[in-house]
Amino acid sequence: MNLADVNSVKRLLESEGFSFKKSLGQNFLIDQSVCPRMASAACDEDTGVLEIGAGAGVLTAELAKKAKKVVSVELDERLRPVLQKTLYEFLNTEVVFADAMKIDLAALIAERFSDCKRVCVCANLPYYITSPIIMMLLESRLPIDSVTVMVQKEAAERLCAKVGSREAGAVTVAVNYYAESEILFGVPRESFLPPPNVDSAVIQLKIRAVPPVEVADEKFFFSLVKACFAQRRKTLINTVSNTLHIEKELLRTALLNIGESETARAEKLSMEALSNLCNEIIRLK
Ligand code: SAH
Repeated sequence: MNLADVNSVKRLLESEGFSFKKSLGQNFLIDQSVCPRMASAACDEDTGVLEIGAGAGVLTAELAKKAKKVVSVELDERLRPVLQKTLYEFLNTEVVFADAMKIDLAALIAERFSDCKRVCVCANLPYYITSPIIMMLLESRLPIDSVTVMVQKEAAERLCAKVGSREAGAVTVAVNYYAESEILFGVPRESFLPPPNVDSAVIQLKIRAVPPVEVADEKFFFSLVKACFAQRRKTLINTVSNTLHIEKELLRTALLNIGESETARAEKLSMEALSNLCNEIIRLK
């Protein structure tokens, strides 16, 4: 079966009686050029690839051509007969039917990829859980080198923004803490079946060996960052004191001690400033 031919994939989905579920973020890639580009950016012949959401297996097959092995975690059991047909000739692929947010990915990686030099994640993510999946992949400190994923264009811009710019949010800081991020290329909505209401982009997160800043308490750092960005137009002193119940006077002293203005706003602060603020608050408390 020619997976590059949109019509034969469509015919197969129809003959299996498959109907797209919007609630599962099912927008399958049908642009012949996108999957090979994603696969080339993500992996080489020594790589084990973890895919999230196999769909009809079109990206899975492209990954299989370039990688040593592909394991795809797919939630929707209705795709089993479709994937049996599309992937049967790709012997280095395996589909695990499970929820990617619930399955033990560390165990899966250890079991399936012990013979691979490196492991990476590549996926056309279900958009209803883009940020939770990305944060789960980063926070669980899986032994992966990179995450190359299709996300909504707006999400791509936020995830890959420069910390200290207007586009940055709490998730930008979190991503930057764990990885170096980059937008690789844009993908128009017409590249998907059915077409979503937004354009998309492929981003790549290269996992850092060590974080770019040293924080005294990671958990507090991330709750502080969340609080800082909760009401981005307000001054940091107001939003942090309200959310985390820290005295305004202590926050004012901390800001001045790290060389920032007492009217500072989150979107102006660099990674260093945010980590310095975290460490200074802990010191003063
Ligand atoms: N990779 C395919 C499909 C992308 S659509 C392609 O590019 O064409 C997103 C896929 O993720 C769908 O197949 C959907 O069923 C699956 N999915 C949705 N939620 C999931 C979850 N929690 N865990 C695993 N897969 C999920």
